[in-house]
Amino acid sequence: MTIESAAQELLNYVGGEWQRSRASARQEVRNPATAETLAVVPLSPKEEVDAAVQAGVKAFREWRETPVVDRIKPLFKLRQLLHDNLEELARTITNEAGKTYAESLGEMQRGLENVEVACGAPYMMQGSNNEDIAHGIDEHMIRQPLGVVAAITPFNFPGMIPLWFLPYAVATGNCFLLKPSERVPMTTQLLFRLLEQAGFPPGVVGLVNGGKETVDAILDHPDVKAISFVGSTPVARYIYARAAANGKRAQCQGGAKNPAVVLPDADMEMTSRILTDSAFGCAGQRCLATSVAITVGDARVEFTERMVAAAEQRKVGYGLEQGVEMGPVITKESRERIRSLVDTGAAEGARVLVDGREKAVDGFADGYFVHPTIVDEVAPGSTLATTEVFGPVLSLMHARTLDEAIQLVNDRAFGNQASLFTSSGAAAREFRHRAIAGNIGINLGVAAPMAFFPFSGWSESFFGDLHAQGAHGIEFYTQTKVVVERWPQNWSRTF
Ligand code: NAD
Repeated sequence: MTIESAAQELLNYVGGEWQRSRASARQEVRNPATAETLAVVPLSPKEEVDAAVQAGVKAFREWRETPVVDRIKPLFKLRQLLHDNLEELARTITNEAGKTYAESLGEMQRGLENVEVACGAPYMMQGSNNEDIAHGIDEHMIRQPLGVVAAITPFNFPGMIPLWFLPYAVATGNCFLLKPSERVPMTTQLLFRLLEQAGFPPGVVGLVNGGKETVDAILDHPDVKAISFVGSTPVARYIYARAAANGKRAQCQGGAKNPAVVLPDADMEMTSRILTDSAFGCAGQRCLATSVAITVGDARVEFTERMVAAAEQRKVGYGLEQGVEMGPVITKESRERIRSLVDTGAAEGARVLVDGREKAVDGFADGYFVHPTIVDEVAPGSTLATTEVFGPVLSLMHARTLDEAIQLVNDRAFGNQASLFTSSGAAAREFRHRAIAGNIGINLGVAAPMAFFPFSGWSESFFGDLHAQGAHGIEFYTQTKVVVERWPQNWSRTF
């Protein structure tokens, strides 16, 4: 069977219309639990990016003049539509991205919250002013939209991550173009069906499917004014540099290698339960997954025993089946990369305590499964201590003091998240002050900021200054204009 005859071809959404791409290159979208082909995604060429941007430029003229209270009306409608279609969205996410149905529902809930927060744009995008900065002279700062803005998103949260950006961009008066991950483009089709029903004028939101060529066309297009990116660090760095070279503002969220420190005074039952979910939830493919646990002193024995037991018991399978706690990783290549990183760790002297590399799942022989894996005595500076695995692999390291543990936390290039498990307020205070990471969890394993806080990655996990979500999103998508004004007065004049 040819690709074309076997599966549905996904469409672009340009100027309020669904369009078939003329791309010569296409890619299959597969269910990672079964390897079944679900759809075919076009890798849209430069001309199609240009058409989508031009549709945005045209729509921008009226959209920016539309009062903000009217611009948020389609967002209110979108909120309800997302709510009414949660189950279908979650099933689609599970089928194309592999996570469990419960994880997919949770993801959509987080996306929905961003729509709700952006409905506060009339308040959030207010400026500031001073009367009488000199006699009879007033000064105001107002916020204006940029024009057409674009987001390029990764595979691991196909429903949530576009919603980190889109609601804020359009509420502030911009037109928004999305290039979703070509590995999980089906959720986006559904999302754009809902955006269409929400009633945005043609061209205000656009969708162009594709890969690198599509991204480069967006980065080089003179009418795209800002780029939001989420993905791996090498690509984030590339996008940040190319966007900046083309004079665009950019916010680029990169990869991660998140450590969690476990002190002996932590509640071990709670800690191991939370860290099991953090390390193995979403098959370790969250940018806030704990990848390294650092025990301090006596915490080592009990924590290790509990984590080993939890990893061995975790039920792995197809995310739509009852009782499944962890799905597959995204592709065969990803599975091979994860296996080979564990091999390298073992070759460098680490001990594999729970080995999920080659375990199968009954009835899903073709799926891309890696079972939970725990590797002990991972040495500082070694491959497993420093490389993003992005799979269900937890490395264990051990320290004698909190000081030593913080040193290990800070001895890495990434800075997405760091966590501490303790019952000591003083230890928590010291940790949150010194840990080099933009998101800190205290007795939390996935410290995901709510929609009204910035998603604050640091170091190699983020390039830019304004992050996604909330007030940062509003600032990123607006430019400030300062007006200084004087009105000569003569109040004795007769009208
Ligand atoms: P990726 O970098 O491979 O792809 C992300 C996007 O970039 C996709 O849309 C893809 O088409 C595009 N892209 C890929 N290679 C490109 C290239 N050479 N030139 C131009 N565009 C390119 O990332 P992924 O595998 O889809 O996602 C997983 C990564 O994302 C992990 O590293 C994870 O940590 C990271 N992530 C980070 C956050 C965060 O908030 N910091 C959140 C989610 C995921």
